[in-house]
Amino acid sequence: MQDKVQFRVALKPALQKAITEDELFLLYQPKVERSADGRFRAVGYEALVRWNNPETGMVSPGEFIPAAEDSGQIVEVDRWVMKAAVAQLAQWLKEPQTQVLPVAINVSAALFSRSEFVDDLRAIVESSGVPSSLIELEITEHAAIVDMENTLKTLRELRAMGFRLAIDDFGTGYSSLAYLREFPIDHLKIDLSFVRDVHIDPQKQGLVKAIIAMAHSLGLKTIAEGVEGREELELLLTNDCDAFQGYYFSKPIPASECGRIKLPSVTA
Ligand code: C2E
Ligand code: MG
Ligand code: MG
Repeated sequence: MQDKVQFRVALKPALQKAITEDELFLLYQPKVERSADGRFRAVGYEALVRWNNPETGMVSPGEFIPAAEDSGQIVEVDRWVMKAAVAQLAQWLKEPQTQVLPVAINVSAALFSRSEFVDDLRAIVESSGVPSSLIELEITEHAAIVDMENTLKTLRELRAMGFRLAIDDFGTGYSSLAYLREFPIDHLKIDLSFVRDVHIDPQKQGLVKAIIAMAHSLGLKTIAEGVEGREELELLLTNDCDAFQGYYFSKPIPASECGRIKLPSVTA
């Protein structure tokens, strides 16, 4: 406990330096769908932040995102990520040979609940010239349920501006179905904990089936996160999951490699 506190105290100035001196960078993980001919194709990417600390090496987001949430610095990290992801999209749009796919950005609970968030995002996107339809915002189920009324209002504003919207880590919070029905969202991302070993765990199979059926009845598409194995993928395909993300297809990769990913072509 004390180690954790000391680690977080030491982290604060280091993270401040990381934000201002560009020690952060983004990797992109493909989201994949299966076409009618059985081939998989990338339909978008999720931007995932990384920190290369010159003194200590790579720090995982699993460590510094929770610390940044505690210190309030997450708002600056998220703003850095929004700007960097939008700048990357603007760059891809300038390259005539690049097929530009939507990019998803993770929005922390702290940023999402701020009144300036929507205006900040609007300013960043408008000055870049990137269409808002190329940007998806991922809000975790935990963040979405803190204040359902406010979530609904913010999601409606974002939707009216043309952004795509997803609920991240679905299944780990306690969403009210009444609200979920009203949220103007496009995707539910099924949390990785339900996907792991889903093919050998009947309880997880029941949950995954129920989530997919419920999403479809609300007109939402499902994305399974953390798909690592072929058996997991096959179980998800059998249950009509719409899209997939995970190491089975690709780890998060630098922007320069995005056009060149090789996906498995056909399932058995
Ligand atoms: P998330 O948004 O649910 O992102 C998915 C995480 O699962 C990523 O971890 C990704 O690398 C990892 N992942 C993808 N495929 C697989 C797989 O097949 N197996 C396993 N075991 N893991 C897989 P990452 O990049 O370490 O990020 C962890 C969490 O940190 C994210 O969860 C998100 O909550 C947060 N995060 C990452 N980047 C950002 C960011 O830019 N802003 C904010 N606010 N949070 C971020
Ligand atoms: Mg996410
Ligand atoms: Mg997730």
